[in-house]
Amino acid sequence: MALLEYKCPNCGGAIQFDPGTQEMVCPYCDSVMNVDALRAMDEALDHVREEDGIGWIYEGGEWQQDERQGMVVYSCHSCGGEIVGDETLGATACPFCGNPVVISSKFAGTLRPDLVIPFKLGKAEALQAMQRHYFGKKLLPEVFKDRSHLDEVKGVYVPFWLFDADADVKIEYNATKTRFWSDSNYNYTETSTYHVFREGEIGFNQIPIDGSQAVDDALMESIEPFHMKDAVDFQSAYLAGYFANKYDVGATQSIKRADERAKNSAIAVFAKTVTGYNMVVPRDSNIQLKSGGVRYALLPVWLLSTSWQGKKYTFAMNGQTGKFVGDLPLDKAAYKSWFLKIFGVSAAALVIISQIIARFM
Ligand SMILES: [Zn+2]
Ligand SMILES: [Zn+2]
Repeated sequence: MALLEYKCPNCGGAIQFDPGTQEMVCPYCDSVMNVDALRAMDEALDHVREEDGIGWIYEGGEWQQDERQGMVVYSCHSCGGEIVGDETLGATACPFCGNPVVISSKFAGTLRPDLVIPFKLGKAEALQAMQRHYFGKKLLPEVFKDRSHLDEVKGVYVPFWLFDADADVKIEYNATKTRFWSDSNYNYTETSTYHVFREGEIGFNQIPIDGSQAVDDALMESIEPFHMKDAVDFQSAYLAGYFANKYDVGATQSIKRADERAKNSAIAVFAKTVTGYNMVVPRDSNIQLKSGGVRYALLPVWLLSTSWQGKKYTFAMNGQTGKFVGDLPLDKAAYKSWFLKIFGVSAAALVIISQIIARFM
């Protein structure tokens, strides 16, 4: 197992990728190096591809069965300390000396990612976003707003599969238009029914599906989108100073979820074209998906976790755009009084709606 360390040519310290400057920076002597200058270190990470067809096949063969179970132990090049990780661990920091290490074999050969979006936002921005998220959250217990409650703040490159797909879509809808009018004797209601057809083609580029079991899928989807214009060819130097995992959910296992996302998006896009009716109900749909290629990418995510009263809370920030999501604990005492207020408001709204309906009866 090869460990990669990025040494400062000036002082020998471990250099890291800096999101602010997009360069390699030495935290000890402030030397700055271009990421491209480290490209040679990646030459051993040859890239074997199976071109075209349905896409590249990343499944199987590459790593041994006995490696799948349990933990893997590495020894730190700087201090000799033991670094223990599960078999998906690809980049971390030495727990003894803090030096960033990249386990290059996790990203070599057919495991080599095609693309990486380097971190654009650093730890300071993640902490600021956390505080903005808290700001104005009245239900939050005061004690929780204290920064010291954060257990962990980690910059993680999460493995993603990016699927391309084309869809042939045919959808039929039942739709109605309703008109109301009155004269001196009667109230009139006219309902016209329509059979609406929509047919077309829609293409999807790089539908992201998270390839890590450990990372919550819903949390990852909620910090989308990632903008692929910033994606660059993978280079392991970008991982220096961050955590990274290789995928443990393969491309073929992820296709179903990608198909589902493509279908749902197609349905939503076509539904938007059926306008001018009072009611639209889909009655039949036929969506044929033709899958294009799939690419393997590492995308930047800040994960923040904390615990409060024995429960664990996870927050995530898109390391490219700063979009921040997460669950917050509710202070029970505060929650009760807020719930009453909110309930009061919605009861009033209900009365208004029922009065309008009664007029047409
Ligand atoms: Zn240095
Ligand atoms: Zn060490």
